[in-house]
Amino acid sequence: MIADTTVSLVSFYINGAWERPEGRTGATVTNPATGAALAEVPFAEAEDVDRAVRAAHQAFLSWRDVPVVDRVQPLYRYKTLLEKHAYELAATLTSENGKTADDARMEVRRAIQMVEVACGMPSLMMGDSLNDVAHGIDCKTIRQPIGVCAGITPFNFPAMVPMWMYPFAIACGNTFVLKPSERVPLTPTFAVRLLHDAGLPAGVINLVHGGKTSVDALLHHPLVKAVSFVGSTPVAKYIYNTAAVEGKRVQALGGAKNHLIVMPDADMPKTVEAIISSAFGAAGERCLAGSILVPVGDAAGPLLELLVARTKAMKVGDGAKDGVEMGPLVTSDHCQRVAGYVDKGVAEGAVPLVDGRQSKPNGNGHFLGASIFDHVTADMTIAREEIFGPVLSVMRVKTLDDAIDLVNRSPYGNATAIFTSSGRAAREYSSRCEVGMVGVNIGVAAPMAFFPFAGWKQSFFGDLHAHGKDAVSFYTEQKVIMSRWW
Ligand code: NAD
Repeated sequence: MIADTTVSLVSFYINGAWERPEGRTGATVTNPATGAALAEVPFAEAEDVDRAVRAAHQAFLSWRDVPVVDRVQPLYRYKTLLEKHAYELAATLTSENGKTADDARMEVRRAIQMVEVACGMPSLMMGDSLNDVAHGIDCKTIRQPIGVCAGITPFNFPAMVPMWMYPFAIACGNTFVLKPSERVPLTPTFAVRLLHDAGLPAGVINLVHGGKTSVDALLHHPLVKAVSFVGSTPVAKYIYNTAAVEGKRVQALGGAKNHLIVMPDADMPKTVEAIISSAFGAAGERCLAGSILVPVGDAAGPLLELLVARTKAMKVGDGAKDGVEMGPLVTSDHCQRVAGYVDKGVAEGAVPLVDGRQSKPNGNGHFLGASIFDHVTADMTIAREEIFGPVLSVMRVKTLDDAIDLVNRSPYGNATAIFTSSGRAAREYSSRCEVGMVGVNIGVAAPMAFFPFAGWKQSFFGDLHAHGKDAVSFYTEQKVIMSRWW
């Protein structure tokens, strides 16, 4: 499905024009299922970032004064174009990221929902007002855009995660510079091309590619007023610390180690399907993926019997092909890194119930089957570190209290789930766990666009979360106006 023309589109988009400056270093983007080269992506130097930021700043000076009802008109057209090209966009996503066609289409659907919510900005941006707060004095709050906002995004959701950011920022009256993951630049480039086609004025959205050099140029640029980041915890911490010291507003969403609690009274067949999807969907390359399974009391026996059989039957292969349940890992390096964790699990004494290293559907792709380890203990590497691949560690506990202790000792707090038929257990767990997003009989508790998205603890640095009403607060400054008329 990748057309040759897409290759030529891996360019920067600055001030409404596509450009590919000479002499930039870069990288080859490959299809992780086949190893085929898809495109060359150029890496921006500080001067490219500077031009993008200056274009965004210039555009901001007029865009901020465009009435919000007019600002959302290009977003309405964008939504229509995204829907028209949804399958093409999803196919591009599968080709560079590896996730299955179904997962990619679902991601594109979620991305479109962000645009739909941002189209409601005239209502979302409304302030409060109260007349006669004192004799003859009225008070109101208004929300104003803050300026040039930057977005730095990860490889695993190249359609959706950028849209947690720019549709909201733009609708609020800001302008934007996006720096997507250099590993999957085609999907965000395609999406920005559609925004160009939707008639957004030049300079309101800008796109640069690259790695640390381009990110640092954004973090230190005096005209960048806010930074939205999604990626791993060490980089999230770095982004937060660096941009905050520069006086910028920051939201930095980091990595995760998510626990799935299974009570003995859970509906086991349905729970197993939910666990398969949570732990191995998108090859485990999801910040909401369940990576530690916590059977409580007698749950372990019936749960693991079903889970192991179902995992062994999973079809691994090229995500673009029908019937495939799990695609490849994004790159060869990442695939080897995840396989290294499986090696470590064995070396440190965990009991492999399923060993994904034995699954090799294709010689050229970066494939690794799903792995499940039993009797994992808290000191083992696979229990402590984010693996970001299809590796599930089982940590058995005796009671729900033990499960809550285990979860709350984790440095991460992104997502979790409890599987049970007891409302009381679900309520107890939801209330006492120190985690930002909780699923009850739902393995991937991904909030919809109109709710906020982010974890706690080392999974998030900042105050205001992604999308929902938090996005409106993040991308605006609130002002209080008190008036008296003589
Ligand atoms: P990453 O941290 O390697 O990269 C994210 C972005 O940061 C990319 O654009 C990359 O170019 C840039 N970057 C990388 N190293 C940098 C450095 N040293 N200095 C400055 N910029 C740098 O993350 P990834 O591998 O692309 O994505 C996977 C990670 O993202 C996982 O940890 C996953 O949990 C996390 N993630 C979190 C969420 C969430 O909502 N919390 C959502 C998706 C992914």
